[in-house]
Amino acid sequence: MGGSGSGRWGSDRGKVEHMLHLDIAQLQRMGLFRTVAMHVGWPNGARISVVRLARDSLRLLYRYRSHEGEAWCDVDERISITTTQQRLGGERRWFRCPTCERRVRILYAGPGFKCRQCHRLYYSSQSEGSADRANRGMFKIVKRLDPNEHFNNLPRRPKNMRWWTYKQLLQRYERYDTQWASAAMRRYGLRR
Ligand SMILES: [Zn+2]
Repeated sequence: MGGSGSGRWGSDRGKVEHMLHLDIAQLQRMGLFRTVAMHVGWPNGARISVVRLARDSLRLLYRYRSHEGEAWCDVDERISITTTQQRLGGERRWFRCPTCERRVRILYAGPGFKCRQCHRLYYSSQSEGSADRANRGMFKIVKRLDPNEHFNNLPRRPKNMRWWTYKQLLQRYERYDTQWASAAMRRYGLRR
């Protein structure tokens, strides 16, 4: 995380952390709101330029491709920022997810930055190769655990299910989740 507006983060600790994401609290610590633009990089070499347009708006510049082997396209995307008052004074900043408009701290990379839930919905409605297969696998497990769950988050163990069975499903879910994240990540590139 060096000098004037350059930073690097990423973690190898499993699943969602493998996904490229922007965390507004982290950007703030890196000094985004004291500068005009910064470049954010990940260990796999992906980079995104974040430009501050106004108090409540960011511009993200990066390259993206929908499948491995396809041509990269340049993306220029606007993200709104919103603030809430903190109980002990001061403000807290949030991204507004461009798809569902919910306030979120983290936006995940994909064809457009979105909150985690919107990504899951996106991937389940598109044919996206291995990410899609992983997503459908996860969703099958989710539906088995809770037929009323519409997002792809892992439900709690149903009362009538054995712990052992739940643990097996959980392990499968996590394997799919890792597959999904790494497939989604291969679509990210270097900003020239
Ligand atoms: Zn969303």
